[in-house]
Amino acid sequence: MTCPDPTYAALLRRLRELHGSENVLTAAEDLYVYSHVGPMGVERVPEPVAVVRIEPGHGDPLGGAAELGLPVVRIGEPHLDPRDGPYLLLDDVETMSLAELEQAIHEHRRRGDENRAARKSAGSAPMYAIALLQSKEAFRAETDAGYCVVQRFLGAETYSAKGRLLLCRGLANGDLTASERLVDSVYSCTACGQCYGQHTQSPLEINNAIVEARRRIVSQGRQPATCRPIMRNLLERGNPMGLEPEDRTLWYEDVADEFPYHGNKVLYWPGCTTSYRLPEAVEATAKVLAHAGVDFGVLGSREKCCGLALYLLGQWEEARAYASRLAEELGEAGPGTLITSCAGCYYAFKKVYPGLGASPAFKVLHTSELYHGLLKEDLLPPMRGKEVYMWHDPCDLGRHSHVYEPPRRVLGAIRGSKLVDPVLSSEHSVCCGAGGGLWMYSESLASKVAEQKVREAVPEGVGCVVTGCPTCVLNMRLAAAAHRPGLRVADLSEVIANQI
Ligand code: SF4
Ligand code: SF4
Repeated sequence: MTCPDPTYAALLRRLRELHGSENVLTAAEDLYVYSHVGPMGVERVPEPVAVVRIEPGHGDPLGGAAELGLPVVRIGEPHLDPRDGPYLLLDDVETMSLAELEQAIHEHRRRGDENRAARKSAGSAPMYAIALLQSKEAFRAETDAGYCVVQRFLGAETYSAKGRLLLCRGLANGDLTASERLVDSVYSCTACGQCYGQHTQSPLEINNAIVEARRRIVSQGRQPATCRPIMRNLLERGNPMGLEPEDRTLWYEDVADEFPYHGNKVLYWPGCTTSYRLPEAVEATAKVLAHAGVDFGVLGSREKCCGLALYLLGQWEEARAYASRLAEELGEAGPGTLITSCAGCYYAFKKVYPGLGASPAFKVLHTSELYHGLLKEDLLPPMRGKEVYMWHDPCDLGRHSHVYEPPRRVLGAIRGSKLVDPVLSSEHSVCCGAGGGLWMYSESLASKVAEQKVREAVPEGVGCVVTGCPTCVLNMRLAAAAHRPGLRVADLSEVIANQI
């Protein structure tokens, strides 16, 4: 914390006594964010002496300020003239709830504001992030700060979507340095894109801006300590968890023995999280593929991490080298198609690798896309049931890769069952909290977001949330067990395999 002027030390002490230190903000990053006003902070006003965060509707918010003659400005009030001198800024804005977000989406739809084509045509390569950071035009997009899945747990605008974008820009143009506060905000983001998914005309792909800022943070040697072992594990052991490489198939030895990859048409790539933490999904996927007569094999203990974490956490140099090495190795192995049940691996091979100059020489499919194709060819088992399903769009598969329809078609083919598709799904799907490296940076924050997901974003009556990402399955399973007893969470392959 910095105090810009000792004149105000007594006042700040008093405010901290009244409202708690965490609610009296004087750090450079906070003042920077709060002094950018208007949609996405396009206009700059003089920085306040401090920002005081209070509960909305608080009676006597700033005792003592008036005696010192400091004007108090509430967020959203008319801007100050720079000649007016020092002031305190009062933040009593309630963070947007999921219910309000849902209402806002209804409103957008009612007004016909949705422009899916514009959103889909927006670039998603990492270079977009750089363009975004350098482009004043992008910041003049007619959007507001938007809902952020983590802000409600962290409070200040510095942790909102708008705040993070401003910090990314401030870091890029030299206004700010990679301070502890800035690093914390940039890494406590799931890079889910929930915020840009809300905007209709000019989608801001904040996930790319975030990972670009992380690259800058790493290049300045300021990477959070919690991320370092993950990077080391990935590079030295071939998985982010640091588990033994030969234990990768410990829980699916049967599949590894029965379906070893030896130049088959299809390489099934479970990925690290599925292999080590969700082996039942490997078995289920193998069962479905075998039933459909797909010529496939797995690499077993020869498989290693896709390297996505290197990119997400900002180690772009290592990510580039890793991606080109792995793409080359897999290319030599020669599968025509790689299929994966991990949304993260899919996003890595399909979107991130090409951006890093390592385009794979094989086709990449998510299991949901393959199953949709098998369904059309009548190669899935006949499916019946009495369940109420909801598809959870993993951010890496949905917003980042635009795969929305295939899993819904497959689940919709289960006769007798119902597929619920709430407003907060597809491009508006609520992140489970585990993405963007947040689970690695702050497991407790990721768990809070998962609790919010199962409590508030899964409609009453849903019996099973189905998804296509092992990290989403695990994070939501834990949250459901604690906060929504009776709600099941399953990988899509498990649902189909149960029909065989
Ligand atoms: S990407 Fe997700 S976590 Fe990050 S600012 Fe946007 S909504 Fe928040
Ligand atoms: S998505 Fe994550 S866990 Fe899965 S293989 Fe890639 S980096 Fe490893």
